[in-house]
Amino acid sequence: MSARSVAASPEFDPRAVRAEFPILDQLVEGKPLVYLDNAASTQKPEAVIEAIAHYYRHDHSNVHRGAHALADRATAAFEQARSDVAAFLGGAKREEIIFTRGTTESINLVANSWGRTQLGPGDEILLTEMEHHANIVPWQMVAEATGAVIRVAPVLDNGELDFVAWTALLGERTRLVAMTEVSNTLGTVNPVAEVVQRAHAVGAVVLIDGAQAVNHFPVDVLALEADFYVFSGHKLFGPTGVGVLYGREALLEAMPPWQGGGEMIERVSFSAGTTYTGLPWKFEAGTPHIAGVIGLGAAIRWLDGLDRAAAARHEQALLERVDTALAGMSDVTRVGVAPGKVAVASFLLAGSHPSDVGMLLDQQGMAVRTGHHCTMPLMDRYGIPGTVRASFSLYNTFDEVDRFIEGLDKVRSFL
Ligand code: PLP
Repeated sequence: MSARSVAASPEFDPRAVRAEFPILDQLVEGKPLVYLDNAASTQKPEAVIEAIAHYYRHDHSNVHRGAHALADRATAAFEQARSDVAAFLGGAKREEIIFTRGTTESINLVANSWGRTQLGPGDEILLTEMEHHANIVPWQMVAEATGAVIRVAPVLDNGELDFVAWTALLGERTRLVAMTEVSNTLGTVNPVAEVVQRAHAVGAVVLIDGAQAVNHFPVDVLALEADFYVFSGHKLFGPTGVGVLYGREALLEAMPPWQGGGEMIERVSFSAGTTYTGLPWKFEAGTPHIAGVIGLGAAIRWLDGLDRAAAARHEQALLERVDTALAGMSDVTRVGVAPGKVAVASFLLAGSHPSDVGMLLDQQGMAVRTGHHCTMPLMDRYGIPGTVRASFSLYNTFDEVDRFIEGLDKVRSFL
């Protein structure tokens, strides 16, 4: 099936989907915007914008605590989103869904609550060279506090995880495995199901960073048997400032709260001490990002209404088109060419700094990201300062790929 015939497929029409995203319909530098920075954050469909506006127009109140109509409505919408997320992750229990500020906070929650109570001197945390800083720094902090040791599995030249080396690093001292399901810089999709099985065989707990996975393909945390799975709303067509920690109930039950305050207590007393409420609220101290959670629920329901398999095929067709073009350019070095990767094209253009390429594309109305993409250890591994990264989503079109490739030609003429 050619790329064009996928675009014309009646099952998935990227132009119809695109029309639901008002932000995409604008000129930048006098030219139609080409938004290829989706790995940093996706844009928001009308359904999400409207859900947030509706909440503020009609239903806003604080949740869980008020005995009045608005409080009831806000609480119902907020808790409905929790059910939506639980279903979205393959049928998790509502109690297993903790709302956070995003992937970063979800990982910090696990590192601080589980990590600081379960790890001790000599215990090993197994990471990979391709982790985002959000899945490195919290573990470094907890290792420093507990005496645990960080082991790092290498990445092969093509951007694949060196699974042989990873397996060799896994051992009886490994207490925690943390791995990204999809690399934000390389697009590599890691074999997380195999990772979970092998990690469990040595008794390790597994956290999967799904920040770059959930918007590309469906995730089933129960089938995966992950202990913890985390993602951000804003990379999933939802709002910023909201994210999810899924944790297996038994693990979450045994973990202490990491932040104290309202909402997470059963009883507070100066004389008798404080007791905590149960899951999931034990981990949700303070007034949450109610509008954000409701927006995330709307994003998930919107995504559920699409043919996701067809959307994934469309993204793969976009990737094939851009990769074929880049592979044919003698002055382009592609970084991350693992088989089966998602639609992320990271590369270097000979004789130019990535940030100059980004600026020259911006002048043509094209948004890409340049730099280290919060993966400095990966940049060190390749011995480069950064890359130009074009990351695609289901609303991108083949015309945009073509404009991007033409844009690179123009960039060359300025260098
Ligand atoms: N993990 C990965 C793989 C990411 O790509 C990102 C963001 O780019 C994060 C974690 C951090 O996400 P957030 O900044 O939304 O917390």
